[in-house]
Amino acid sequence: MSAIRKQDMETAEIFSRELKRQQYKVNLIASENYASSAVLEAQGSIMTNKYAEGYPGERYYNGCEYVDEVEELAIKRAKELFKAEHVNVQPHSGSQANLAVYFALLEEGDTILSMHISHGGHLTHGVKQNFSGRWYKVIFYGVSRDKEVIDMKEVHSLAIKQKPKLIMVGASAYPRAIDFKEFKKIADEVGAYLVADVAHIAGLIATGLHPDPIPYADFVTTTTHKTLRGPRGGMIMCKGQYAELIDKAVFPGIQSGPLMHVIAAKAVAFGEALRPEFKEYQRQVVKNAKHMADCLKKEGFKLMSGGTDNHLVLVNLVDTGITGAEAADILDEAGIIVNKNSVPFDETPPTVTSGIRLGTPAITTRGMKEGEVEEIVLRISKVLKSKLDKNLRQEIREEVKALCEKFPIYTEKSKV
Ligand code: PLP
Repeated sequence: MSAIRKQDMETAEIFSRELKRQQYKVNLIASENYASSAVLEAQGSIMTNKYAEGYPGERYYNGCEYVDEVEELAIKRAKELFKAEHVNVQPHSGSQANLAVYFALLEEGDTILSMHISHGGHLTHGVKQNFSGRWYKVIFYGVSRDKEVIDMKEVHSLAIKQKPKLIMVGASAYPRAIDFKEFKKIADEVGAYLVADVAHIAGLIATGLHPDPIPYADFVTTTTHKTLRGPRGGMIMCKGQYAELIDKAVFPGIQSGPLMHVIAAKAVAFGEALRPEFKEYQRQVVKNAKHMADCLKKEGFKLMSGGTDNHLVLVNLVDTGITGAEAADILDEAGIIVNKNSVPFDETPPTVTSGIRLGTPAITTRGMKEGEVEEIVLRISKVLKSKLDKNLRQEIREEVKALCEKFPIYTEKSKV
């Protein structure tokens, strides 16, 4: 930060405040993480200076010999990590990755079968206000009312009835394991492409802690910044037979110059993910999430599907007299960051919601384990059960700060 401090104090001061926020608050946003210092360094590097439209060995600009090397390295490591036949590391984000797959496979008006956002799906899976909902006909499946797990019978019957060209599987707020094999059977029965969006669970898949979509899905899209703990970005994996189709869809289809500094950071992050410590980390992420679910239930909270198999839990606040939005705001006052989230069959609008989503990737990166999870849940419970008590939130904020001080970030001694 020394160069920014020297020339632009106004921006530097904002950075300082954000660093303090990250340091002194407990981050339970399920889609966030702390990238390593090495990843940050790569992302803030000289690689940002290079234009490199095209692919390694086939660029539209000269001077690409070293960015070619770094992109090839990112691809090689991603292939090793996921055992994928073909990888494109250029999508600027998870949304761009999904856009590229749709662009490769669909015409305007074609039918997609995907999970409804209020049951856990993502904006790019067909929400009306998103390009995906505007350009394509989207049919939604969801979770069952009783068990709140994906209703495979509904997926099957909708597929038979609607004959989608593409079935999308994957979610932003679904705490249970996904049966990609079963989805593939249905896709094959109706002649649809199967696309798995594993943005949230990529780190678990890479380390064998969640069923693997690679053998089944025609395309697998992901972000690189959630459980995968890399730089903010996207990636697409597919069978070799689709290599040219998807590469053309990304460039020149939907993007021009790739972000070479981000691709360099992806290479660094994939290198980290190939180390044995990363598997240990992911194991702890899941252990922490399961423990969080148990502790929340002990405190009397209702969880979507009754628990979790992955890195997140969804708390259903319907019977508590507090909305998701209120809960997220008062927890923030107490130094605990979560996001409001719709729960299945939610009757409130998405700006209000009846749930909160809690995830363990970020706290686990800091080194927190089951003991700390327990402490955090007790504080969440106190705050939510005393929504009028502002003083309590101030007290808890100090306690949370003290807890965070024991698990520092971005210092010589810290894990990150
Ligand atoms: N797909 C899923 C399942 C997601 O959860 C997200 C992000 O929240 C995305 C795609 C989009 O990623 P990005 O924010 O990088 O566009």
